[in-house]
Amino acid sequence: MTEQGPQLTALLGVIDRPQAAALEAALAGRSLSVDEAMPLVDAEGVALHALAMTADVLRQRQVGDVVTYVVNRNINFTNICIKHCGFCAFSRLHRSEEGYFLDTEEIVRRATEAHALGATEVCIQAGLPPGLDGDHYIDLCRALKAALPSIHIHAFSPEEVIYGALRSRRPIAEYLVRLREAGLDSLPGTSAEILDDAIREVIAKGRISTQQWVEVITTAHKLGIRTTSTMMYGHIESGADQLRHMAVLRSIQEETGGFTEFVPLSFVYAETPMHLRQSAPGLRRGPSANEIIRTHALARVFLGASFRNIQASWVKDGLKLGQWLLSCGVNDLGGTLINESISTSAGAGHGQFVGPAALRRAIRGAGRIPAERSTLYELRKVFERPEDEVEGPLDRIDDADGAFGTYRALTRSSEHRFIMPRRRRGADSERAEEV
Ligand code: SF4
Repeated sequence: MTEQGPQLTALLGVIDRPQAAALEAALAGRSLSVDEAMPLVDAEGVALHALAMTADVLRQRQVGDVVTYVVNRNINFTNICIKHCGFCAFSRLHRSEEGYFLDTEEIVRRATEAHALGATEVCIQAGLPPGLDGDHYIDLCRALKAALPSIHIHAFSPEEVIYGALRSRRPIAEYLVRLREAGLDSLPGTSAEILDDAIREVIAKGRISTQQWVEVITTAHKLGIRTTSTMMYGHIESGADQLRHMAVLRSIQEETGGFTEFVPLSFVYAETPMHLRQSAPGLRRGPSANEIIRTHALARVFLGASFRNIQASWVKDGLKLGQWLLSCGVNDLGGTLINESISTSAGAGHGQFVGPAALRRAIRGAGRIPAERSTLYELRKVFERPEDEVEGPLDRIDDADGAFGTYRALTRSSEHRFIMPRRRRGADSERAEEV
């Protein structure tokens, strides 16, 4: 067991007693109740240092000094969506001149290109286009696995799973089984935002409910399909709301053990409809740096033994802050991504691609040991010493936007323009549109 060290002991002696009591309980290996952890949601100054140091001790005990990343490619295959989430700058209405739709052939091409460059995972999420064939997600998995049997398909948010199930008129469990049989390997635990219906009503009216999100996730876990878990924070929610959100995730994890990781996702506000229209009272402009540190550290402290992996998102927070978060409870830097549309369209400025060597440099610069992992956190290669590292083909990409394309280019090009299904597929899809 890692000792907490004299600095942390000293800090625990000077901060507010309820905060110190919570951190001491966590260091003693106890799972904190929401009430016990509540004083930590406001931790600032010395208390924030104590929280981050506690998270670092717990991280070290739980997972040691290895920090992981995955080589993957994101494919957001359409920006057309029937929903109007206030935090989403990515989606377009189906009549928009900026609407695109990548067909299955193009998705397989992108996955094949990434696989040849070393990617082990494709992460596929998109808008909900009107008239989508209910079997589209299933056919897509089948085509990908036929072309690339070893690629890990990490795809479809709970929102998309429900959309596919609705469109194909099948229960969620049956739809998930069909996805798995077609080759789906795991689900992203996105579309969670904050699992509180009153908050969801303000930031994303019409979004799936908390109960629906939990149903998709727990059903997937019971079927043996692992998922990630996420939280979008820094908008209208409070620290207490964040804590209650994590409590929902923890109770699911204690029941199913199906989450691979937890990823706090900073709200990127600049281009979002709810910022531009001022439609959400009390809307913040994303979290401060202190809040980002506090949230990651609190995740390690509060989620406790049930969650091994806390990820920092370089897309949201940048690689430099991501590197610092490795000292605040984090043990994973996510993926190479290659293409990124959601945060980019909302105004994030951290790019869409970071190569494996750059991720390893950030990890080693934080005094930790880099390792490439699979989506499910099996270690593929641990780079104990710098001499173990060899540059791969992805590291030699100088101009990722030129090599792989961008969201902006997709919205401007006529090559992958979205066409309503009735024109694309004829009468069958027209009937499906009634769903
Ligand atoms: S978040 Fe997803 S469901 Fe909501 S508008 Fe954007 S693409 Fe559509």
